[in-house]
Amino acid sequence: MAFPWLREPWLQLIASAKAGRLAHAYYLQHNVEAGSTEFIHRLQQFLLCNQPGKSACGKCKSCLLYQSGNHPDTWTIDGAEVNRIGVDSVRELQKNVMQTANQGGLKVAVILRAEKMTEQAGNAVLKVLEEPPADTHWLVSTADAERLLPTLRSRMQWLSVSYPTTVQNDEQISSAKELLAGLRGHNGLPLLKDKEAALDWLDISENLLLDWLLMSQDIAINRLRYQPLADDLRQVSRFKWVSVAELSGWVSECRQLRQRFQGSTGINLPLLLSFAWSRWADSLLR
Ligand SMILES: [Zn+2]
Repeated sequence: MAFPWLREPWLQLIASAKAGRLAHAYYLQHNVEAGSTEFIHRLQQFLLCNQPGKSACGKCKSCLLYQSGNHPDTWTIDGAEVNRIGVDSVRELQKNVMQTANQGGLKVAVILRAEKMTEQAGNAVLKVLEEPPADTHWLVSTADAERLLPTLRSRMQWLSVSYPTTVQNDEQISSAKELLAGLRGHNGLPLLKDKEAALDWLDISENLLLDWLLMSQDIAINRLRYQPLADDLRQVSRFKWVSVAELSGWVSECRQLRQRFQGSTGINLPLLLSFAWSRWADSLLR
């Protein structure tokens, strides 16, 4: 999963799938730049795949059909292309969904930008979801969940994704800049006075690493949390090679530190975080 914030929702869905507890319908915040459509397509293929592991296998007949855009058991209404989604297109979808799966597996209906559905269209979807066929899943994205019928929302499971938001706080941005320079050996690493300060720095570290991760993969670079650091991060991604796996590992390290700290008062967070920083700085010196 290229977008770090989609990893957790993905793993949760896979776990539900393995446990046979998938909901009939999921909906999530539409955010193309941050990967919402890619996420839906990935899930669509996963559900159709004949032998899925942690994602679709990419090799089975279903996957090949899907990749060629010819899978007979999946349908998409893309609201991005139209002013509104009328009841006719939903009825068409409804008709397809009611038929037996051509490939004998699951059927998947997708609606992107579902907030553009007319009330009539929304009611038509609701009707299917009130008595959902067992072998059918609905994947829905919406730019504005409030504009979906409440009754429809109550029939679907909300997939919560914490998309990045750009940080506007100048103090935090200059702290992030200081930390990055410290990791690169341009100045000393920040001093961690106490637990509270260390917790703030932990958030800054995680945000900075997530930005770095995006920059090193050349994705969504207009979505950085610390947008003013884009140039510095670009430089660091270009000249100091740190692998995506390593950066992801450091992000998990931040999260684990936070969890350990929350779970126990005896953790010396300032010390542990400064150790982590020193190790990261060492890797940059290699
Ligand atoms: Zn497959």
